[in-house]
Amino acid sequence: MVLLSGGMDSCVCAALAAREFNAAAVHISYGQRTEERELRAFLEICDRLEICDRLVVRNEALRAIGGSALTDPEIAVPESPMIRHEIPVTYVPFRNAHFLSVAVSWAEVLEAEKVYIGAVEQDSSGYPDCRPAYYHAFNEVVRTGTRDGRIEVVTPLIGMRKAEIVSLGLELGAPFDLTWSCYSREDRACGVCDSCVLRLRAFREAGASDPIIYCEAVEKVKV
Ligand SMILES: [Zn+2]
Repeated sequence: MVLLSGGMDSCVCAALAAREFNAAAVHISYGQRTEERELRAFLEICDRLEICDRLVVRNEALRAIGGSALTDPEIAVPESPMIRHEIPVTYVPFRNAHFLSVAVSWAEVLEAEKVYIGAVEQDSSGYPDCRPAYYHAFNEVVRTGTRDGRIEVVTPLIGMRKAEIVSLGLELGAPFDLTWSCYSREDRACGVCDSCVLRLRAFREAGASDPIIYCEAVEKVKV
């Protein structure tokens, strides 16, 4: 089982899972700004990786609760700052627990024993639900709260630099061309939000070119 948002990290994670297992993929739309584009990315990545078992779920709670630039249209998605001291407004409160709960429930039904999630600690936006301690604790919950207690949430990318994830993805043939990372736009990636900036930097550091299309202004900056 792999949680696949459609971004570059989850795509690499899905490529890893698909290489080792007959993988199933789950995607959760939660009223985020780019949900349509991300769902398209999910479906296309599944097609490319030949993942047939798919589950798409709508989570209404996160949008209703708000409190994040991704789910509240009143809160603007900021351009990526150079230095950061606090958790950014793009953090969606306790989001990964919602996602993991859905994946673990489905894993119980499918009798899958591993749930892959592409959480990354370094080179990330500093979200608290991307830290190793969080997954360690969550696995305790899964172990004690499921029928057989055998399901494990695994985070193969958590200790990797973002550039290393790009290199691994290229090695695995992960379909980066089908991924979507931008927080704010669905037509072309904005190139200035946190997610775009981290992604562009990762490809640059890996010595690779990012196959998706960015806004014209960013193209010029890159040149
Ligand atoms: Zn962006």
